Amino acid sequence: MGAARQRVWEERGDFEAPRPGEGRERVYVKPSSPFTSGNLHMGHVRDYSIGDAYARFRRGRGDAVLFGFGFDAFGLPAELAAIERREPPAEWVAECGERMLGQMKRLGFSFDYDRVFYSSDEGQYRWSQWLFLTLLERDLIYRDDATVDWCDTCQTTLASIQVEDGRCWRCHNEVRLIRRPTWFLRITPYLEENDRNTPLLESGGKWDELSLATQRYILGRADGVEVDLAASDGRSLTAFTPHRRFAGLARFVLLSPRHPQIDAWVSDPAVREELERMRSGGWERSARDARSVPILDTGAAVAGPGGGELPVVVSPLVDARFGPTAALGIPAVDEADRDLAARLDRVGPEGAAEPQPEGAEGGPEPAPAPSAREATRYRANDFSISRQRSWGTPIPVIHCERCGPVPVPESDLPVVLPRDIAPTGEGNPLAESPDFVDVECPACGGAAKRETDTLDCHFDALWLWVPAAVPPEARAEEMFTHPDLAKWLPAERLVAGNDSGGFVFDQRIVTKALRDAGPFAFMAEGEPFAGCLFHEMVISEGRKMSKHLGNVVDPDALVAEHGADTVRLAVLYAAGPAKTLNWSDGASRFASRFLRNLWSHTHECLQALEELAPDEEAAADTEHLRDRLRKWCENGLARITADVEALQMHKAVRNITRLFERIQDFEKRVVKRRGSLGRADAEAQLAALVLLARTLVPFAPHTAEALLVAAGVDEGAESVGRWPETAEIPVAPAPAA
Ligand SMILES: [Zn+2]
Ligand SMILES: [Zn+2]
Repeated sequence: MGAARQRVWEERGDFEAPRPGEGRERVYVKPSSPFTSGNLHMGHVRDYSIGDAYARFRRGRGDAVLFGFGFDAFGLPAELAAIERREPPAEWVAECGERMLGQMKRLGFSFDYDRVFYSSDEGQYRWSQWLFLTLLERDLIYRDDATVDWCDTCQTTLASIQVEDGRCWRCHNEVRLIRRPTWFLRITPYLEENDRNTPLLESGGKWDELSLATQRYILGRADGVEVDLAASDGRSLTAFTPHRRFAGLARFVLLSPRHPQIDAWVSDPAVREELERMRSGGWERSARDARSVPILDTGAAVAGPGGGELPVVVSPLVDARFGPTAALGIPAVDEADRDLAARLDRVGPEGAAEPQPEGAEGGPEPAPAPSAREATRYRANDFSISRQRSWGTPIPVIHCERCGPVPVPESDLPVVLPRDIAPTGEGNPLAESPDFVDVECPACGGAAKRETDTLDCHFDALWLWVPAAVPPEARAEEMFTHPDLAKWLPAERLVAGNDSGGFVFDQRIVTKALRDAGPFAFMAEGEPFAGCLFHEMVISEGRKMSKHLGNVVDPDALVAEHGADTVRLAVLYAAGPAKTLNWSDGASRFASRFLRNLWSHTHECLQALEELAPDEEAAADTEHLRDRLRKWCENGLARITADVEALQMHKAVRNITRLFERIQDFEKRVVKRRGSLGRADAEAQLAALVLLARTLVPFAPHTAEALLVAAGVDEGAESVGRWPETAEIPVAPAPAA
């Protein structure tokens, strides 16, 4: 049945996004962009089952729906898989994509498959390069010889989003900080706007709590006060504290190693050398707590807001709390500051006394600083976007000894990544390829070298939500200028795993940058997603799935055993999106039984109808029961519709199964009263079952559409895919007078 329905959909072209015309609501449902790993996992099945149900629902209501995605195909996972298999990453990526698309089709996901793209395609990464140049020109990308997160195992720098609790996102080894020239994305100019917009997103009602929480967490907003502190030689330093009532109790000032004025405070050559060592020697991320984090006394001091001299101390601890700023150290009320004070001899013995929480009994008297101003700091900060790997978007920059780094002219894009590079896991094949490296300087014409770092795939992802909104044939010329963009964007809903918060945060930043640069001026608020639903992960046997634990659930095997609809229904039914889904066979048994019962019940009802003649007296006798059935149907439909609108698919599925119970209950009551169903009863029951099947289409489309066709509904997408507006239960003929 599955394959036959899928053929019908393909022949009808159900999933093609219509040309966005006027008069219809346009709905872009954006699913997550899978890595080309080669296999869908259960998290994908969860993601796409939610998004697909919503897309089918909106189509069923007559809206113009775009449900499209592309593969996040560059990056380390593909490169490492290619190394293991000794084949070029481009081939591996193509194989994986084909396989995963096959899996998606077997599950019946209604993507516009003609719009699928790969971030590693030339036509695609040409625009990643364009984005790089656009941001570079606006000073939102810069090169700095700076501290970056580095993974020894993967031999690569990492974006901040790839570091989880001080560990590499991929290999989970501890990450350390080193110093090397790298490219940065400057996000700080837009942090305040991201902050300001979050309540707007919330009031729109289409962002769920989980996704909003990730945006707040990544932003890391701290409110407090700031004070200007003067040194005896006239230099001045602005320091922040969240403890606004206790600023006068400050004992020292903590300076980020990335503070914009760091050089002015570290002038002593010996201290400077020590700072350099602190930055380049690298320290373990795990040492980032106040008892062991590196600290460096600059020897300088400033006048404290409550009198006395405050030593100026450099430590990365301030970054982890308030970003690249300066902060007052107030040991009397702050635990971390107390631990630092204990390690600083200049602070004095009382600096290290047990801190008292603000407002605690016997705690310190408030000592606000009279000159303090209200202030806010954000922990989110610029991050590295380049890496020393060959499977990535080449950075469109040429290094010339005379001119320095020179952007590649836009007319020379794309800078093509050689398709045959075969990484070995050591070094960087791009750097070892003279054809790629040796070029003319676009500025002076002299001999120059191409940048051999590539862009981290996090950079590609900054705009992975854009291409699906552009017809494939127009992408070469009009990726950021096509008129359809203004029609589909912002996306009505993003559905993604809750580990996507960092991607979304940075996509929101880049949208604002592209609004200010011109192409996205039509998105005045600079928000790419009007709505966002994050879901938790899928685990099994109470644990994260892993080959090592042998508890990996394979979607292919499930589909082969139970059929696509059962798997989709079970994944949706088993847990609400905000809850971790602990996969069990119970859910698929439940879903399978429900679908089987619905199938046989509907067919029995159809058969009964063939044999029943109208009987007015019998009809009159059970009219009150049919009335009741009609009310149940009206009620059920209203609830299911509201659930799907809110993307609470688990509730929708529960209400569908409940409505089925009510329909069965109706039959029982009629049989109890009259011994068997009359024609009017069977007609009402069939109408109720048709209604039920219609609400089931978004969740179990193969079974639901087959049921509708069996019940005599027309094959066309407008007929079988139509979402019911009202419960169409026939009213019984008036009893004969
Ligand atoms: Zn690693
Ligand atoms: Zn030059």
